[in-house]
Amino acid sequence: MPKSETQPTIQQFAWFEGGFVPLEEAKIGVQTHGFLYGTSIFEGIRGYYLPESNSVSIFRMREHYERMIGNSRLFYLDDSGYDCEAMCKITTELIERNSPTGDVYIRPTLYKSNLNITPHLGQTTTALTVWTIPFGNYLDLGKGLKVCVSSWRRLRDNAIPPRAKAGGAYMNTALAVTDARKMGFDDAVFLTEGGTVSEGSAMNLFLIHKGKLITPGHTENILEGITRASLMEIARKELGIETVERVVDRSELYFAEEAFFCGTGAQVAPITSFDNRLVGDGNVGPITKKLQDLYFKIVKNQMSAYASWCTVVPIKKESPVK
Ligand code: PMP
Repeated sequence: MPKSETQPTIQQFAWFEGGFVPLEEAKIGVQTHGFLYGTSIFEGIRGYYLPESNSVSIFRMREHYERMIGNSRLFYLDDSGYDCEAMCKITTELIERNSPTGDVYIRPTLYKSNLNITPHLGQTTTALTVWTIPFGNYLDLGKGLKVCVSSWRRLRDNAIPPRAKAGGAYMNTALAVTDARKMGFDDAVFLTEGGTVSEGSAMNLFLIHKGKLITPGHTENILEGITRASLMEIARKELGIETVERVVDRSELYFAEEAFFCGTGAQVAPITSFDNRLVGDGNVGPITKKLQDLYFKIVKNQMSAYASWCTVVPIKKESPVK
C-alpha cells in the first residue's frame, strides 16, 4: 500500500510570490528570466531535527541571509523588498508549517522573475522563493572520499564571481561533479585558471599538514563558506589549531596528512585519496574526526558556547495535514 494511504503526510509549503503556498503550486513560467539565464542567487541552509525537543536547529541562518543580501548587489538582485529580518522570519515560519520529522535543507533563492528576453539585469524585477526538502548526508561522512582533480577550471572572479553563489555558475560545478562521478570518484577539486587549488565542486577544502590546517584563501575563486569560517573558529577555540589561508599548490594535495571537504551540504566530509594517491595512511585522520564530532555537536545546539549559531524552531503539534 502506498505510504500516503497508511499515514497522513504533512502538507509542505513554499514561500512564493509573496506568501506561503502549497509546494506543488510554487511554479515559474518557462519564459522567466531566472530560468532562461540562471539570473539568480541562492543559499543552502541546514536544519537539524532535534528529536528530544521536537524542534529544528537552523545553522547560521542569519549569516546565510547576510551573505545572500551582500551578493544580491552584484547582480542587481537587491530589489526584492526583503531584508535579513524578513527572510529569517519567513524561514522559521516555513519550518513551523512544514513540521519536519528529520533533517532538512532550506533553499532560498532570489531570482529575476520578469519575462524580459534580454539578459540585461537592470530592467528586471527580483522575487524571493524559499522551500525545504528532507536532507540526509550529501556525501559519505564515514569511510572517506575518493576525490580527483577536475579537468574543468574554477570560474574566475572576473567571469562569474564564485563568491556570489549565482544560479548560473553551478553549470561549472555540474561539469566537475558529473565527470568525477562518471570516472568513479566521489567528487572533485577545482584548480584555478592559474593551476592552484581552489575548492571542491560545491564545498570548501581543508588540508592538514604538519598539524596545521591549510585552506585556499579568499582570492582563489572560492565561495567564502560559512562552514569554512565556522570550522576555522572551532579549530582555533576547541583544538588550539590555527588555519593558514594561502595559495595551495596542486601537489600539496598529494602530501597532505589529512584532508576534508566542508559546506552546508557536505558538512565535514573526510577525503582519503586524491587522484588515487592516499591521503596519509588512507584512513580518516584524527583532527578531521575531532572537527567532525565538534561540528555535529554544535549544529545540533549541544555546545552552549555556540548556541548563538543555532536558531531553534519548535515544531507545533497541530501541523496541517493532507
Ligand atoms: N563552495 C561552493 C561552490 C558551494 O556551493 C558551497 C555550498 N554552499 C560551499 C563552498 C560551502 O559553503 P557553505 O559552507 O556556506 O555552505
